[in-house]
Amino acid sequence: MESKTFNPFAMAQHQFDQVADLLDLDVPTRDLLRAPMREFHFLIPVRMDDGSVRVFRGYRVQHNDARGPCKGGIRFHPQETADTVRALAMWMTWKCAVVDIPLGGGKGGVVCDPHNLSQREQERLCRGWIRQMAKNVGPLEDVPAPDVMTNPQHMLWMLDEYETIHGKKYPGFITGKPVGMGGSLGRTEATGYGVIYTLREALKEQDIRPEDTTAAVQGFGNVSQFAVDLYQRLGGTVVCVSCWDQADQTSYTFRKAQGIHLAELREITDRFGGIDKAKAKAMGYDVLPGDAWIAQDVDILIPAALENQVNGETVQKIGPKVRIMAEGANGPTTPEADAFMKERGIFVIPDFLANAGGVTCSYFEQVQCNMNYFWEKDEVLGRLDQKMTSAFLAVSDLARRKKLYMRDAAYVISISRVAQASRDRGWV
Ligand code: GLU
Repeated sequence: MESKTFNPFAMAQHQFDQVADLLDLDVPTRDLLRAPMREFHFLIPVRMDDGSVRVFRGYRVQHNDARGPCKGGIRFHPQETADTVRALAMWMTWKCAVVDIPLGGGKGGVVCDPHNLSQREQERLCRGWIRQMAKNVGPLEDVPAPDVMTNPQHMLWMLDEYETIHGKKYPGFITGKPVGMGGSLGRTEATGYGVIYTLREALKEQDIRPEDTTAAVQGFGNVSQFAVDLYQRLGGTVVCVSCWDQADQTSYTFRKAQGIHLAELREITDRFGGIDKAKAKAMGYDVLPGDAWIAQDVDILIPAALENQVNGETVQKIGPKVRIMAEGANGPTTPEADAFMKERGIFVIPDFLANAGGVTCSYFEQVQCNMNYFWEKDEVLGRLDQKMTSAFLAVSDLARRKKLYMRDAAYVISISRVAQASRDRGWV
């Protein structure tokens, strides 16, 4: 599982197989859960602003819906592959199960780079994706949401196309919509805040005060920015964040030893989370290579970008002081790196638990859409905190009792729940 040959779906299956062994899962249940139940691969022709047509490749993978309709985001990324979407769909199944919401797992994507697409072209791409999938998604089948490089505006275009095709209003068809257009207050903050709710609980269990901790964060998109926000409000110091630089096609780490200033960095950040290097330097930030975030002398690491960032190679660079890793991204850590972290005794809050705040709030968004009554932000965030905290406590309690690595404990809970639902339905 070296970075050169990294395959996220192979990694997701490897993680599954290990826990299936631990649970002594029967063969039919394994066969059912270790691969997606349904997949859609399609082409989306888009009329570009200059009159030409470009054909994009789109995907939707529905991994499992034993516990409820499939749920998961749609990612726009130039490196998107069928196996990436398969892995992300599978992780969504475990994510919804670990926070115990009545949803299954799905994921979608388009191979594209939105940096190079105008707003109108992105709108046509969103509508084209829905035209291909309109018969196979819906509030009772499969509910999409934002992911990397997609946002509430994309969700609204998709909703509009879906409602136009079906001739009715279906506000519960998609989540992550703009507030005022069926979106939920707190949805934008939810994933990043959720990471910090679980981190806060982990610190409490280890008797560490947030004020006495420092953190390094990878990424500066939606998840990272709100994780930084809440962690700093708890009193923690974020020493650096990193981000992708579109012009140089590489990433950089932005460090300020006494603590980064979120508002000033946001001022010089584009809508994809890219920070302006020259302006950051002028503000007193050290601009370091992209992987420098992992080697900082901090207590906490928060990878909040993409898959395969903490792998056999980079894990060796983790500073000696690091005690906790809270995974904001999906699949940031490979099994090889897990082995190293187990050895080092680093406490991991695994991705599908740590970043489940987004989908939990999506579930609240659906609930509010169904009632056609929308909650105040405090109510949304209060309920989110409750869900995330109890999911974290259940996983850490199992990990302690059975002496399991946190990722394995989370998998035990999720896989058991999905296996049970599949058995209860008489599927296996
Ligand atoms: N894309 C997000 C995730 O990976 C959110 C999914 C959702 O809200 O359905 O968890």
